[in-house]
Amino acid sequence: MKKLIIVTVLIMLASCATVRHASAPAAGLPGGEAMNQSGSVSVEDQDHLILATLWYQKSAEMRALYYQCFRNAETALKENLELQRQTWSAPEHHQAESPAVSALSAGETDGAALDHRPRTGPVKPAAVVLDIDETLLDNSPFQGWQVLEKKSFNNDDWFRWVELARARPLPGAVEFTMYADSLGVEVFYVSNRTVQERGPTIQNMAAMGFANADSAHILLKETTSSKAERRAMIENNYEIILLVGDNLADLGDSYEKRGADYGFGAVDADRRLFGTKYIVLPNPMYGNWLNDLLRTAPGSTEVEKLVNLLNGF
Ligand SMILES: [Mg+2]
Repeated sequence: MKKLIIVTVLIMLASCATVRHASAPAAGLPGGEAMNQSGSVSVEDQDHLILATLWYQKSAEMRALYYQCFRNAETALKENLELQRQTWSAPEHHQAESPAVSALSAGETDGAALDHRPRTGPVKPAAVVLDIDETLLDNSPFQGWQVLEKKSFNNDDWFRWVELARARPLPGAVEFTMYADSLGVEVFYVSNRTVQERGPTIQNMAAMGFANADSAHILLKETTSSKAERRAMIENNYEIILLVGDNLADLGDSYEKRGADYGFGAVDADRRLFGTKYIVLPNPMYGNWLNDLLRTAPGSTEVEKLVNLLNGF
């Protein structure tokens, strides 16, 4: 009998601990039900995010990949800067091509590549353009919170997370922006965080030590998710020699609409730009790749749609 009582108490304690864990707000976000944009309660199983979020947070491979990408970004930035200086400063002495130059001049590009031919006219200073979320700042605690609280994404919860201004920098990210700055390359951030999120975004990035964490260099979304206009604004005064992002649309306009081939064709056509002008970081948790899949998939819930997509293989 005594044994039975002890076992019962242990089970009760264990279940209490589980409930506490499941309902504990992650990263300072409040618990309870969230309201979506239309004002209705948004409670939806987000278990399909578990593996991707765990990989992002707990796999050493993810960490290694970020270091690898930013190391690659440093090399590409330095090579492209040298190329830019060669083509503008000594057009009569065309120099031997670096691997980056060869890639950029391979004729397999969408026309956005650096031009290695000698150029005349006013020299524009070099710039690098980086996305913010899941490129420089790690928002995976928000994803984890969504799973624990069974909340699908909504702008109100996201804004509360952004307001905390406590997203951690991703491995190698701060160092890369400081390196670019040390080379004299102007560092710009083009993000689809909204202009209403400017204050906490600057606060967060400045506290983490990112270069140029100010309103002149952080270009946020005003009316459109397309980043084309904001890149064009930068190009009025600068030459963009490198772009870094976790979403292909961070890199070029041609990736904004994916066809029935999931955008594979566009990527294949630009394959020589990846690692030279474009640096892509891994994000298995969300992105245009997922939005486009869900848009066309049959099914009523997100999970149902994802399973149906798997059935198609
Ligand atoms: Mg991003």
